[in-house]
Amino acid sequence: MKKTIQIIGSGFSSLAASCYLAKDGYDVTIYEKNDRLGGRASQLKKDGFVFDMGPTWYWMPDVFERFFNDFDKRPSDFYALEKLSPAYSIYFDQGDQFTVEDSLDKIYKAFDEVEAGSSKKLEKFITTAKNNYDIAIKDLVYRPGESPLELITMKTIGKLNQFVSNISSDVRKAFDHKKLVNVLEFPVLFLGAKPSDTPSFYSFMNYADFGLGTWHPKGGMYEVIQAMVDLAESLGVKIQTNADVEAILVEDGEATGLKVNGKNIPSDIILSGADYHHTETLLLKPYRQYSENYWQKKTFAPSSLLFYVGFDKKMENVNHHTLFFDVDFDAHANAIYDHPAWPENPLFYASFPSKTDAIAAPKGKEAGIFLIPIAPGIKDTPELRETYFNKIIDRFEMLTNQKVRENILFKESFCVNDFVDRYNSYKGNAYGLANTLFQTAFLRPKIKSKKVKNLYFTGQLTVPGPGVPPALISGKLAAELIKKYDL
Ligand SMILES: Cc1cc2nc3c(=O)[nH]c(=O)nc-3n(C[C@H](O)[C@H](O)[C@H](O)COP(=O)(O)OP(=O)(O)OC[C@H]3O[C@@H](n4cnc5c(N)ncnc54)[C@H](O)[C@@H]3O)c2cc1C
Repeated sequence: MKKTIQIIGSGFSSLAASCYLAKDGYDVTIYEKNDRLGGRASQLKKDGFVFDMGPTWYWMPDVFERFFNDFDKRPSDFYALEKLSPAYSIYFDQGDQFTVEDSLDKIYKAFDEVEAGSSKKLEKFITTAKNNYDIAIKDLVYRPGESPLELITMKTIGKLNQFVSNISSDVRKAFDHKKLVNVLEFPVLFLGAKPSDTPSFYSFMNYADFGLGTWHPKGGMYEVIQAMVDLAESLGVKIQTNADVEAILVEDGEATGLKVNGKNIPSDIILSGADYHHTETLLLKPYRQYSENYWQKKTFAPSSLLFYVGFDKKMENVNHHTLFFDVDFDAHANAIYDHPAWPENPLFYASFPSKTDAIAAPKGKEAGIFLIPIAPGIKDTPELRETYFNKIIDRFEMLTNQKVRENILFKESFCVNDFVDRYNSYKGNAYGLANTLFQTAFLRPKIKSKKVKNLYFTGQLTVPGPGVPPALISGKLAAELIKKYDL
């Protein structure tokens, strides 16, 4: 008889793991507490508008390709992918934008226009970044974080200095112009920490950005979730929604099943893709590996205040992805990481998927997603949400030189309290545990429980880290470890 595996949650990591495990011959069931699948990559549909509620940037297409190839499939078997042109733009002031185009040659030219001769420096920077990408994303991140020895290879020994220096100082050494510094520091924000706390080696994110480009699955990121659900089900995975896991059952130090909606369901192996901290609360205290103090001391990726807005007209002077970096970057970072508080003048990001994808909004209208990164765990009230909406809409109107407030058909918001209620997120973090030097690889919470036999973890709080591509990889790593130890 097939061995049974129960998986908690239906985010990217759980779905990925379920596919590998079903392919390996296990009897796999996913239990998701919400009525919708996909975890943080959820979707909101309203009055003909379609919004991705979480991820909107499709980076590292090679990782998605590799995932589907493992099942003799390709992304194009499930969804249509478009390379965005331009990739995105950044506002630094009213009418003052830097546009990141869709090829390195165009980006080199744009750098020279801002700082004469900077393209040569950028070429050098990107050569290193590409080399790091080849080492990290094609190899290192596919190692399970069981031992420090995994990181020691002929290629990484020569890179040791890049683990003691940081992205921020590298960029500032090479480039003078504030705009170029901000442009180059942006990609590592996806890793969840300040550029000054992110090792230089992570410049592979700059290669992902400039070298590989920004892509968009037609219909939005939720199409990728749908593709993975279809793949999982075709491999025999069973999926239950509205299935709240209340406890992980353990007998004599061995996981024996789950308590779901009040009912005990036996299983041979348990894998959790829910937030690591929450999963541990499903265990009796002696079976938990990490104390509250441990989690308190960790650097978490930011939470976010998000707005999903339906506009009754098309927006001008913005791209599919537009960043608003017209205020002090360091002051906002300080309010996220050093002295957690609402930022006085927030940086923000806006996405208008209907600029390139007709599915996202009715004809002549625009779907707008606005995101302000904020510290996890800070106070979240309807009044604060409204204050910050007004702040960013005022700035948006001024910077993009248009009036939009009267054109709002509806707006929905999502913030710290929703992350906690909906995803059982620790302090309402949006995208997990940051990738700092001391929260990398074997230094992250482990995939395999050290205290409970047959209990495993996957997702953005374990290896390799935050983001959709890492979540796909995390699912694969967890499935491989389960197979390795299932003797
Ligand atoms: C606003 C936002 C923007 C982002 N932008 C990007 C981006 O542009 N590009 C990118 O690559 N990444 C982005 N990310 C990060 C990316 O979305 C995540 O890293 C990834 O989706 C995490 O997947 P996961 O499987 O680790 O966890 P999750 O998606 O959180 O999945 C965990 C699941 O477990 C379920 N669960 C929790 N507790 C229980 C329980 N007790 N019982 C049953 N089910 C339970 C939850 O409901 C959830 O469905 C963004 C994230 C957010 C929130």
